[in-house]
Amino acid sequence: MKYKCTSCHAEIAPREHAARFLCPNCGEVELVRCEKCRKLSNPYKCGKCGYEGP
Ligand SMILES: [Zn+2]
Ligand SMILES: [Zn+2]
Repeated sequence: MKYKCTSCHAEIAPREHAARFLCPNCGEVELVRCEKCRKLSNPYKCGKCGYEGP
């Protein structure tokens, strides 16, 4: 299964330590953040409810 970073839309490499978590607002969408975006604290946005987080 392939994942894409919610912030930068880069494909997540199989061994990359990306963070995957459910949207803290609606809890229905899985958000993915790649290592780079975690380090840079890039913002992400839920595609369903529009929640934006750090
Ligand atoms: Zn990213
Ligand atoms: Zn959401």
